[in-house]
Amino acid sequence: MTLDYANSYIYDLSEPGRIGVSLPPTDVPESDLPQGYLRTTLPLPEVAEVELVRHYVRLSQKNYSVDSGFYPLGSCTMKYNPKVNDQAAHLIGFARIHPLQPEETVQGAMALMYGLQQALAEISGFDAISLQPSAGAHGEFSGVLIMRKYQLDRGETQRNKIIVPDSAHGTNPASTAMSGLKAVTVPSDDRGNVDLEALRAALDDTVVGMMLTNPNTVGLFDEHVTEICDLVHSVGGLMYGDGANLNAVMGIAKMADLGFDVMHFNLHKTFSTPHGGGGPGSGPVGVTKALEPFLPGPIVGREETEEVEYHWVWPAKSIGRVKSFFGNFGVLVRAYTYISMLGAEGLLRTAENAVLNANYIQARLKNVYPVPFGDRFCMHEFVASGLLPGTKDLHTLDIAKRLIDYGFHPPTIYFPGIVHESIMIEPTETESKATLDAFSEAMIKIAQEAKENPELLHSAPHKAPVGRLDEVLAARRLELTSLPK
Ligand SMILES: *Cc1c(COP(=O)(O)O)cnc(C)c1O
Repeated sequence: MTLDYANSYIYDLSEPGRIGVSLPPTDVPESDLPQGYLRTTLPLPEVAEVELVRHYVRLSQKNYSVDSGFYPLGSCTMKYNPKVNDQAAHLIGFARIHPLQPEETVQGAMALMYGLQQALAEISGFDAISLQPSAGAHGEFSGVLIMRKYQLDRGETQRNKIIVPDSAHGTNPASTAMSGLKAVTVPSDDRGNVDLEALRAALDDTVVGMMLTNPNTVGLFDEHVTEICDLVHSVGGLMYGDGANLNAVMGIAKMADLGFDVMHFNLHKTFSTPHGGGGPGSGPVGVTKALEPFLPGPIVGREETEEVEYHWVWPAKSIGRVKSFFGNFGVLVRAYTYISMLGAEGLLRTAENAVLNANYIQARLKNVYPVPFGDRFCMHEFVASGLLPGTKDLHTLDIAKRLIDYGFHPPTIYFPGIVHESIMIEPTETESKATLDAFSEAMIKIAQEAKENPELLHSAPHKAPVGRLDEVLAARRLELTSLPK
């Protein structure tokens, strides 16, 4: 049988004895491999180098990425990642150092980390920053541990709960539970803000603090944010700011000025380092003076006597280490490069354009798709609903799958849960008007198709390497390796 070359699978190309590497004859004495560690069977395909290269390049071409197309994945801030960030991270002085090297041999890397701590402090208004946590959720976990330890340290041992709005990202209640505390949900009001009456009712002297995302996950700036912070402070609680949506406000408002005590940054979102597919991220935490002693360590300190010197510093009552060594250093280099390239003025314009782009799409779509809070201006993202008037048995999932046929990555769907059949669109600042128009027109076209030919949507995608998947099964029975069939 002739090989179906275009769709060939790497094991179809395998021939016993074929190899993809050639090693020089050994010039050192042979020795036995350690026993007990190595697998006795490992069914690898036997192919030439060229087949292996084609296998991986073909796989990579099946992927959709922010380098290949528009990626309006709400809440994820999938902006373009400038290549200069990667170039900086690949500089030998950054890429080839070891975390166990003595301080005096890595002063440049420590200077960069110190500079990043300073930049994040300036952007957020906080007094101190730890770069340790390795993702937003990890920053939340660290931040909640900081709040908990602060309360215990001042003898408030009866405090055991954290207030979380119903619009929160799932990581907020998860971080609370992982810290041994109880999450208490408060509802949103009909303008998408935290319901103040419900908040008042939940406040007492058992509250460790409250976690608030602002702008929140429906893309709205909470109109009562300072009042919320005051209310929580009035019962001795602390305010945690989920900084995942910083892209909408950086350079415009500082979280510390609004009344927050602690926040995390998602460097991989706001400060443009590649993410998706699970890693690597970075989620530094920033705190006020009162919480500084509790930060996870070590952090970088600077001393200026005759020369400038950087040292590892341990905060006095630190919650401890939350990550091996010093955080995800490669991500820190990329974020520092991005912030330095843009400067204060550039970061401000980034936020303004992110908000402008989201409002542009919201304005284009809101007469076609229901937008529950569409009477308000949105921030960097907005949430529509896939419940299209004049259709039946048609779901947001069908709309999202059909978008793939138009060449777009689908938006975030079914989050946040407070909007029925939600579609969460975050275009980011890096897209041109032409792209925003093309996307809006595809969405409008799909709404028409939904009425005229819903089957087209139910069976989408039609042009992707794989069609409609059983997503539950795919998530439960992950197949991440390529083994012989
Ligand atoms: C992305 C996100 C998080 C979690 O951040 P990770 O870096 O993915 O761990 C938390 N809250 C909100 C609102 C987010 O969008």
